[in-house]
Amino acid sequence: MTSTHSFSRRGLMTGLAATGAAVSLAAFSTASRARSFPAFGKVVDEQPFARLEEIGEGIWGVVSTPLNADGSFNPAAIATLCNGGIIAGEDKVVAIDGSFQPAGAAWLAELALKLTGKAVTDVIVTHFHADHTGGLAGYQQGAAGPNIIATATTNQLIVERYTGARQTPEGASFAQPAIRPVLPTRIMTNETETVTMDLGGRTITLHPLKGHTPSDVAIEISDAPVIFAGDLVWAGLFHNYVDAIPSHLSTSVRQLLADPQNTIVTGHGAIARAADLGNYINLLDLVEEKARASFEAGKTAAEGSADFLVPQSLGTWQLFNPRYYETAFEAWRRELAGETS
Ligand SMILES: [Zn+2]
Repeated sequence: MTSTHSFSRRGLMTGLAATGAAVSLAAFSTASRARSFPAFGKVVDEQPFARLEEIGEGIWGVVSTPLNADGSFNPAAIATLCNGGIIAGEDKVVAIDGSFQPAGAAWLAELALKLTGKAVTDVIVTHFHADHTGGLAGYQQGAAGPNIIATATTNQLIVERYTGARQTPEGASFAQPAIRPVLPTRIMTNETETVTMDLGGRTITLHPLKGHTPSDVAIEISDAPVIFAGDLVWAGLFHNYVDAIPSHLSTSVRQLLADPQNTIVTGHGAIARAADLGNYINLLDLVEEKARASFEAGKTAAEGSADFLVPQSLGTWQLFNPRYYETAFEAWRRELAGETS
């Protein structure tokens, strides 16, 4: 990241504590023709469900390909469903996020070993959603496995949502995860200060943020203008507000996109330069404007979102789920009604 960034860097890995873990496996899904978002970096591996792009020295980004060319869902995509990536240092190899199914994480783990000569040592979980955590078991090798790092809030939400009866994975139209996720093993208990990890020859900084969910983590790299934004930033796909705190989302996104030169690994959609993601902010602002007007007019989210359309001037934003506009208005209604903190 450049010296002009708006983040602060401080703290060590002191906020981490151990928790237990559970392991399980799921079947690999079948392949089909996947829609490709435009490649940003050099594609080093391509599968029916995702591809891996080299975006810096020792830095690779995953781009999942969840939609077919006709806009329908690509069933192969459930292996990963989310984006993520690999950051390699001389000593440590970090993977970002755990895919929806273990097959997705296992694919990334295998590529990390092939590309760096080292196994993944640490996995950073950007937030609790099942499409980022359901496949964490894919990083395990028998009983052994990398550290899995998440905030205390994220850990709690994984337990609440996915080890009990209530489950709300990203994209409610997708099948529920058939597995109990492996739980984080290193917990960031302080969610207001950044955490710095020394990978050997390079450091990365974990930024606890919120907005897509009550706890999101973005990852900054000391020696490269790359940010892994998790699901705070989407490109080409309309944001899923199901667990969003929209005002915080707006603040976090502006922070992450402040330096136009940065490469942003989004949570869903293409990898892009921050300078090219201005329409994402414009879209969030448009949703805010319309949702506030809807709330002030006393409308329900369904009523308020009924005539919502994304203008062509903001580009193409496909929907994982046809109800996502209503979900966005409902998130704003919750916040404006004082039902979220
Ligand atoms: Zn998410």
